[in-house]
Amino acid sequence: MNPTVIPIALQRPAPAGEAQAASRLACERERRRGQGRGRQVLPAVLAEVQAVLHSQRPLQTPLQAEAGNSAGPWRPELLIEYLHALQDHFGQLGTPQLAALAQLLRVPQAQVFEVASFYHHFDVVREDALGSLPAAPRLTVRVCDGIACELAGAAALLQQARQALPALLGAGVRVMAAPCLGRCEQAPAAVVHQRAVAAADLEQLQACARAALAEPAARQAEPPAALSLPAYLQAGGYRLWRDCVEGRRGLHDVLSSLDAAGLRGLGGAGFPAARKWRLVRAEPAPRWLAVNLDEGEPGTFKDRVGLEADPHRFLEGLLLAAWAVDAAQVVIYLRDEYHGARHLLQQALADLQAQAHVAGWVLPPLALRRGAGAYICGEESAMLESIEGRRGLPRLRPPYVAQQGLFGRPTLVHNFETLFWVRELLERGGAWFAAHGRHGRQGLRRFSVSGRVRLPGVKLAPAGITLRELVAEHCGGLPAGHLLYGYLPGGASGGILPAALADVPLDFDTLQPHGCFIGSAAVVVLTESDHHRDSAVAVARNLMRFFEHESCGQCTPCRLGTAKMRALIEQPRWNGPLLAELSQLMRDASICGLGQAAPNPVDCVQRYFAHELSEAA
Ligand code: SF4
Repeated sequence: MNPTVIPIALQRPAPAGEAQAASRLACERERRRGQGRGRQVLPAVLAEVQAVLHSQRPLQTPLQAEAGNSAGPWRPELLIEYLHALQDHFGQLGTPQLAALAQLLRVPQAQVFEVASFYHHFDVVREDALGSLPAAPRLTVRVCDGIACELAGAAALLQQARQALPALLGAGVRVMAAPCLGRCEQAPAAVVHQRAVAAADLEQLQACARAALAEPAARQAEPPAALSLPAYLQAGGYRLWRDCVEGRRGLHDVLSSLDAAGLRGLGGAGFPAARKWRLVRAEPAPRWLAVNLDEGEPGTFKDRVGLEADPHRFLEGLLLAAWAVDAAQVVIYLRDEYHGARHLLQQALADLQAQAHVAGWVLPPLALRRGAGAYICGEESAMLESIEGRRGLPRLRPPYVAQQGLFGRPTLVHNFETLFWVRELLERGGAWFAAHGRHGRQGLRRFSVSGRVRLPGVKLAPAGITLRELVAEHCGGLPAGHLLYGYLPGGASGGILPAALADVPLDFDTLQPHGCFIGSAAVVVLTESDHHRDSAVAVARNLMRFFEHESCGQCTPCRLGTAKMRALIEQPRWNGPLLAELSQLMRDASICGLGQAAPNPVDCVQRYFAHELSEAA
């Protein structure tokens, strides 16, 4: 017996409950000492974890990893899927379960813990000295505190909900702020467990939370009413892809059409699509296709809206791209907040596979992967890391992902919208697409418009349209009595422009002279009236809090720079020279676009909205 345990037991006769607790504590200490270094796995916990994962077996099948890390039934590259399965089952991730998962996967516990604690949607909890875990929340309500929702009063709603819901519905109901939920046109947006609430107010949140507690089905996302596979087929769907696969349309012809259209990657980087296809095709097989549906840029929701309307148009574009680069496997990475879209996409994939079976079509292996709440995984190499089951840390380049992407293989990475355009563009011809455009620009763009306009939403408009034209022609104008004050042309990282620059064409390469970029074409409109004026300073503070929260922490200029910059701009008086120095440092030395672009809103405030700073001083 361990000598340090004996005195505790002999000190005094303890009441029954106390004695029991002391005995459990002693046993726990004994168990830890006797089992050497590291957290030990209890057989009962291991069995429970195995049972949960076995019940989710379908999620383990589609992706056939290249690397030799896939021996046995448990696959480390599926770590994030396993964590989702456990979190969904237990409502949180207890340290004993994580240790058991590490044992199953035959990976170090540190690997499982670092991944689980990296992603915001996993709740890692530790057991107490007696080995007990805290109770999992009965219900989680997330209120978006992204910029469009903040403009719509989300901060007040969050405060009200935090006070009212636990008081009304009892302990275990937690209310949290959530970074942009990708529902900016529905601001203020909220999610009760997985069910989205548009234009949320306290009354709605109470009703939804009460329903979710009473009825498990009321917690789940409602599937969007999208175009079905039969309707898509009836309208000629998948014919173009079959023409290509069956040799009636050649690769040269397809690439020439994309060239003629001038189609560029529409996730933000704007790399010419056909060039990317050629580059990947020229690399040795096997090649992969990875689709980025992790649209997390605050203000952006166009991919969700497109997917929820017409999932098979996207899937046909995906199959065309896979055919063009002769991809051996395809992975779709979907942001975790899009619960309804996930169910829809799962169904669409199942329908497509059933149709392929009946019609004798040969599909490449298709896998759907679920993000876990990390903005940085919208960066292509971070997304690949996440698909491989790791933390979403952007990779240093070169090598580029076209050369060494998923599992070290050449990988074509595309955004949803780029693929969404492919069918229409090939059917109508590249010249048709290129004939659109305004102010000397070419093509069409799907703008996500939110903030203070009468009709927010996804707006299909010519590339190069100005903000003034976009609002007047596509958004029903500004609310009555409002005047334009400013706008964000490219989401959180694209900067902030004043009303005086509302006639600049919105497209790739047109905004850089003004210190901004269009990125994913997420436009957030700010106004002033007799009664209010939106604050660019408040916008910059909101965005810098977001960047600080979402920095992956890999490099110092970004990890510390975002925190330092946030602290500096929270002050009533801004230290301009210090901010300028910090901004330059972050731009020069950060590894990826997050740290490089994070200073944009702050720089824009100093450049275009200096009057707000002088007013505050
Ligand atoms: Fe991570 Fe920020 Fe560095 Fe990008 S810039 S790698 S997000 S720390």
